[in-house]
Amino acid sequence: MRNLDSGETGSLPYDKLILATGADPVEPPIPGGQLGNVLRLKRGARRRRAPRAHGQRTCPFVVIIGGGLIGMEMTEAFTQCGSAVTVVEMMPQLLAMLDVEMAALVEKRMKQLGVKVMTSTKVEKLVGDADGKVTSVVTSAGELPAQLVLLSIGIKPNSSLAEAAGLEIGPTRGIVVDERMTTSDSDILAAGDCTEKRCTVSGQACFMPLGSVANKEGRVAGSNAVGVEDEFAGVLSTAALKVFDWNVGRTGLTELRRGSLGARS
Ligand SMILES: Cc1cc2nc3c(=O)[nH]c(=O)nc-3n(C[C@H](O)[C@H](O)[C@H](O)COP(=O)(O)OP(=O)(O)OC[C@H]3O[C@@H](n4cnc5c(N)ncnc54)[C@H](O)[C@@H]3O)c2cc1C
Repeated sequence: MRNLDSGETGSLPYDKLILATGADPVEPPIPGGQLGNVLRLKRGARRRRAPRAHGQRTCPFVVIIGGGLIGMEMTEAFTQCGSAVTVVEMMPQLLAMLDVEMAALVEKRMKQLGVKVMTSTKVEKLVGDADGKVTSVVTSAGELPAQLVLLSIGIKPNSSLAEAAGLEIGPTRGIVVDERMTTSDSDILAAGDCTEKRCTVSGQACFMPLGSVANKEGRVAGSNAVGVEDEFAGVLSTAALKVFDWNVGRTGLTELRRGSLGARS
């Protein structure tokens, strides 16, 4: 253990340990990704604060890279702040958690509300000015002006600590846990975005990084850690979001049998 402020190191003894290290944003290998005004959102970030966090009440041109849950919510937030927002998505549809027909309805509604949506489009690089701040986004379909760019191409379980400790990691890269949230070490439990879930519809491993699920898992892990038996049955792969004046949701598997959130199944 290391105190990041003082640099002091030490260790704590435990009878039962609970890992709740969350998830990390996927970092795309895009040249220019480290320029100023290129945002990533993680853990506890609040979407409505983002435009002001960069000292600007509004940004004329915002480019959101990735049309997933967070990209959609941020699109709404920036549009309401008066920005012209373009969503660039590599896949042929927004919101890979939805079937293609449902995603098409969302895309149509967003375009009606003034959002520019570019699907099947790949970002190639970000260009900056002499001060190191982003000015444009070069895509496979042309160059877009941008004062602010949000990278939201997905997140992955933050399981590196568990992996280094020798715990079993599953195919989704989440920590493998049983119904009691116990890992492959019986004295270590894990809960939240860092764990792999079991989809109760397909029986398959899936990744479901939601606060609602993390909360239930945390309660089960906490109870079992102190000797009160409890179980978490798994997830139905349910997720919902607000897109402007629409509420959009899914439960169970998509036609492509996707049980996870995002493009990965
Ligand atoms: C912009 C945004 C909007 C969201 N909206 C929703 C929503 O509407 N509904 C919903 O259900 N979910 C939502 N989520 C997802 C939700 O926030 C997460 O599922 C939830 O926070 C996961 O909880 P957690 O405790 O597993 O991880 P986190 O909340 O990410 O907490 C993990 C903590 O562990 C710390 N940590 C990591 N590694 C170490 C280490 N080695 N040592 C010490 N500390 C460490 C991290 O700093 C972090 O504080 C949203 C997420 C984002 C980013």
